[in-house]
Amino acid sequence: MFDIVIKDGILIDPEALTRRTGSVGIQAGKIAAVTQSEICGKQEINAAGRIVAPGFIDIHGHVDLDAYCGELSLRQGITTTIGGNCGFSPLDVEAFFSAHEKNGFIINQAEMIGHSISLRETVGAVDPLKPATPQQLSRMEAMVEKAFEAGACGLSLGLAYAPGSSNEEVYHLSRLAARYGRIVAVDTRMRTGIDMYSLVEAVDIARQTGARIQISHLVYQYGTGVVDEALAVINRARADGLDIRFDSGMYTQWATHIGAVLFDEDSMAVNGWRLEDILVITGKYNGRRLTMDIYRELRTTAPHTAVVVFTGVEEEIYLALSHPYGMPSTDTGPYAPGEGHPQIAGSFPRYFRQMVGERYELTIMEAVRKATLLPAETLGFPAKGRLRAGMDADLVVFDMKTIMDKAEFGLPNAKPEGIDYVLVNGRLALDKGRLVESTAGQAVRCHKPVYDYQI
Ligand SMILES: [Zn+2]
Repeated sequence: MFDIVIKDGILIDPEALTRRTGSVGIQAGKIAAVTQSEICGKQEINAAGRIVAPGFIDIHGHVDLDAYCGELSLRQGITTTIGGNCGFSPLDVEAFFSAHEKNGFIINQAEMIGHSISLRETVGAVDPLKPATPQQLSRMEAMVEKAFEAGACGLSLGLAYAPGSSNEEVYHLSRLAARYGRIVAVDTRMRTGIDMYSLVEAVDIARQTGARIQISHLVYQYGTGVVDEALAVINRARADGLDIRFDSGMYTQWATHIGAVLFDEDSMAVNGWRLEDILVITGKYNGRRLTMDIYRELRTTAPHTAVVVFTGVEEEIYLALSHPYGMPSTDTGPYAPGEGHPQIAGSFPRYFRQMVGERYELTIMEAVRKATLLPAETLGFPAKGRLRAGMDADLVVFDMKTIMDKAEFGLPNAKPEGIDYVLVNGRLALDKGRLVESTAGQAVRCHKPVYDYQI
């Protein structure tokens, strides 16, 4: 008798890329059986006609212990989120994991250490246009090493937020990531919407340091008519033996804070962004487009206000996510209810609806692989993203016929439909769309061996 049995579902195995009807038995937080035989559990979930897959792994998020953001992620079928992206993270990763372990959390969290905002500001490299001094760099190196010792799964660079970062800074820290076997997630230094050099530069980090590179939200960076070229750069680098992968959301419009250096007047002009193309999504002007008065006021008095830039070519999302090394991600972050970008509640259901259900860009097996096994392999999670005995019982049950994102601008936290059950470490957290458990998530510490790496 198992603790829980998910019965008669359409089981998707992302390793074997198979689909077959069967049942999953769960015992003590692990998948204990995947079988076509009749099995019984203390609790049974009828999954007839529904997809049963490993829980989704969101490789690019900013949940960072925010309970509401975590709930919106769970409702999308996400069971593990990767925080600390875009160069912005908790500084003390050990304290972050300890807080998670002490109080529990709604989903599993892995965490990166963020260079361009968090570490730089802490060591006094506060001017985003200037490189860090050698003393500041050596302090940052010590902090990155401490974060990796605590189990951070990667280093995140937000070069768009600190375009003055020197190669020395980037290479020294990335070499540490290579030595620890952790990834480097790069929000590229893009100067304009067609700046391919910024991607070549990110690829070059791999060449110079041996680090594995995850390009962050590729479509937010290059989905402006140049995704083809971006994919060509990535393919060429991969053919050269460099490990370059990427993620992308399901939207072309991207969000960040108005105080970022990329909203300086000369950067706005060089990109051709007009004020009316930028929507405020938090604070007192929530829902309003920018005017010169609002722009000036927010930049000086409320620089953390989030805005969305309406840019990009929708078709490029589908192109990017059809690439075998492209993974879906949310770029979610903490917002008050009613504020924010629809990516916080709609990304993964939108991915399955559009990529599989409507456009036939991916088979269901391939779509599940890219949302589960591929990020698990990229990050080095040996027991996640897989549907077989012995693996962590992070599971999602959804209906491919009805899965639907409901979130949109103005209604960013609308709950998706068609995702019926989500289990986190063998505990039922979402039951027929109802949140029933909010402490089943575990801190996911990476402890791969340190490589004696020299380049
Ligand atoms: Zn981000």
